[in-house]
Amino acid sequence: MFCPKCSSLMFPVQGKLHCNSCGYERSFSGKDSTTAKVARSGKEKPAETLVLDEITETLPKTRVECPKCGHYEAYWVMRQTRAADEPTTRIYRCVKCQHTWREY
Ligand SMILES: [Zn+2]
Ligand SMILES: [Zn+2]
Repeated sequence: MFCPKCSSLMFPVQGKLHCNSCGYERSFSGKDSTTAKVARSGKEKPAETLVLDEITETLPKTRVECPKCGHYEAYWVMRQTRAADEPTTRIYRCVKCQHTWREY
């Protein structure tokens, strides 16, 4: 997306496209999906909070070393983050100290 006035690259700022060179602003076109995504995420819990709430004793365990206490067993869950272009994340929770971490 380039500025119609000075042809610089424009950046999305608060739901608008903003030109850093000349200050020109324009709104996104209706079909731009970025606008909908930003509006929706404000109301929901952060993805990470949702994921951590779901980690319980019913999850499968795996042999992985806890980076905090060194215990070699943790619950784990596979999670696709909300943004489709982000990779799937594996989230572990240490059986012993409840430390939670993620792996990409
Ligand atoms: Zn400009
Ligand atoms: Zn641990």
